[in-house]
Amino acid sequence: MGVLIADFDPALMLGLFTVFGVPLFLVVFLLILRRIGTLPMHYGLSQCEKCGYDLRGNTMGRCPECGEVISENQRLLLASLPKLAEQAKRESSVGDP
Ligand SMILES: [Zn+2]
Repeated sequence: MGVLIADFDPALMLGLFTVFGVPLFLVVFLLILRRIGTLPMHYGLSQCEKCGYDLRGNTMGRCPECGEVISENQRLLLASLPKLAEQAKRESSVGDP
């Protein structure tokens, strides 16, 4: 008994904390931030930034799932999606017999 306490080295403990504690703390901190919704979830461009709902064809300016306001940039993108799909279809069929 007492050997562990006698061998207690503050520098070693600090080193162990830095190597294992800090990354662990950061991971837990990021998970908590993501859980409470302060970090963007990086959904696709046609999906709601908050909940990931597919907003293609949406003309309301709001997500029907969570009520998040759709940004002006995303509204412009959503409006251009059918045209882009049509254009891609035309371009891919050019070489067809
Ligand atoms: Zn949403």
